Amino acid sequence: MRSTMMNFPLTLDHVLERAGRLFAKSEIISRLPDRTLHRHTYADFHRRARALGGALQKLGLQRGDRVATLMWNHYAHLEAYFGVPCAGGVLHTLNLRLHPDDIGYIANHAGDRFLIVDDVLLPLYDKFRAHTKFETIIVVPLAGSSVPAEYENYEALIARSTPLTPVALDEDDPAGMCYTSGTTGRPKGVVYSHRSIVLHSLATATTDYMGVSHADAVCPVVPMFHVNAWGVPFTAAMMGSKMVFPGPHLDAVNLLDLYQAERVTLTAGVPTIWMGILQALEKEPARWRLVPGMRMVVGGAAVPESLIRAFDRFNLHVVHGWGMTETSPVGLVSFAKRELGAMPDDARAALRAKQGVPLPFFEVRAMGAAGEAPWDGTSMGELQVRGPWVAASYHDLDAESGQWTPDGWFRTGDIVTIDAAGYVKITDRIKDLIKSGGEWISSVDLENALVGHAKVAEAAVIGVPHPRWDERPLAAVVLKPGMTATAEELREYLAPKFAKFWLPDAFVFVDAIPRTSTGKLLKAQLREQFQNWDWE
Ligand code: ADP
Repeated sequence: MRSTMMNFPLTLDHVLERAGRLFAKSEIISRLPDRTLHRHTYADFHRRARALGGALQKLGLQRGDRVATLMWNHYAHLEAYFGVPCAGGVLHTLNLRLHPDDIGYIANHAGDRFLIVDDVLLPLYDKFRAHTKFETIIVVPLAGSSVPAEYENYEALIARSTPLTPVALDEDDPAGMCYTSGTTGRPKGVVYSHRSIVLHSLATATTDYMGVSHADAVCPVVPMFHVNAWGVPFTAAMMGSKMVFPGPHLDAVNLLDLYQAERVTLTAGVPTIWMGILQALEKEPARWRLVPGMRMVVGGAAVPESLIRAFDRFNLHVVHGWGMTETSPVGLVSFAKRELGAMPDDARAALRAKQGVPLPFFEVRAMGAAGEAPWDGTSMGELQVRGPWVAASYHDLDAESGQWTPDGWFRTGDIVTIDAAGYVKITDRIKDLIKSGGEWISSVDLENALVGHAKVAEAAVIGVPHPRWDERPLAAVVLKPGMTATAEELREYLAPKFAKFWLPDAFVFVDAIPRTSTGKLLKAQLREQFQNWDWE
């Protein structure tokens, strides 16, 4: 017997057309470089995204051609998110926080033909342009400055363009690409398909995960070059939500002002952003009136339990998620399942600090030395995943095929436990594990505990070579402004929470902890800095 269902492609042109037709009046607000707010509707977005696609086609865009963006989060970037793939191209978002040489390397490796760049980012482009081979540069006049004659003016292109010529898209066609942030090696490119983006959007939109609705005002703080802002702009467009883009202004006060002014109900970003927001709120608790229960999707690095509780006190709800460039990115989201019954607040916060349970169609297993680790909450193994929005290879990098197991699972490089209820908890990245006297110590657990101390702003724990124990933990700690603390004080604070051999033997007070372009602790750099630490 055969199914009698249509074979209907899951492609982004459908999402764009639906958005323009059903949600023409939904708003798109963008903070510009001069801090004023720019306002568009979905009707503008629909018309302009199609005009951008048409303009690119006229400039020679062929199916599968890469169009790079070097842009902040705003309306024009959103137009590229849809205009490029709907015209048959591949949207390649460049990470503007990388070293210029790396940006150039990535653009070349991807074979980008076109570049769309914010006028305010032209000085950055100038730093790597000599090494790149873009055929056409399109400049978005965000700051109202005039566009140099050698470049195309984005607004002029849109104004004189006709809508794109529809392309018969296949759901498996490439639609976008991103490179990993390179925390653990050379950046590697992942190519998303229309189908993978559509399914990721549907799954993350469900109520238990990000829960995205037409009634939401959604503000992606996570940059649109960081794994497609975790898919948030695609998901929001699919649901018809109001979108609020922060542009280049990502400091706590600007964000809080924006949340308040535009009645934001759902926002997303890495933990460092929220640490800053929390400090601002604690300093001036009465300054902002936010929408009660505003949901904040936090991921990209572990979220300390103390952060979840602190926001609870402001009636702001942290939604902890886990993902990777290779997984589009969202794979796990933490929420307390009803079947677990009533639980004290402490237990609930601890559960929410875990990385969470897998989305529908996202499968997980933890592989230890002796095969698959049982779901008992203590056995550790490498997290391996598979699903329709998980990469099956890297772009043009056959040497990395070892990231996939022979039976088709992707090796994440994260060490986890999975408990009986299916909650995954990350202990460490394989490369960050600390091995002391033959036993593993979780740096993530120690860091999360340390930032729970009232005087600690940030902490990173690394393994440093030790003559007797192989490695011992060293904690690099940033104190909150104006605070002083001693190593003994921090050790005493940790002591009741951990086995004795887990406690760091050294605490070093530093001004800042090096971070990657996407807000992760740069432990490789710390390890290098402290490799000759004198344990005497
Ligand atoms: P890169 O691998 O270059 O750092 P990604 O942005 O793809 O770039 O990073 C994915 C990694 O980030 C994951 O493998 C994991 O180690 C870490 N990560 C992401 N979300 C979380 C989270 N909620 N808790 C802990 N670690 C996380």
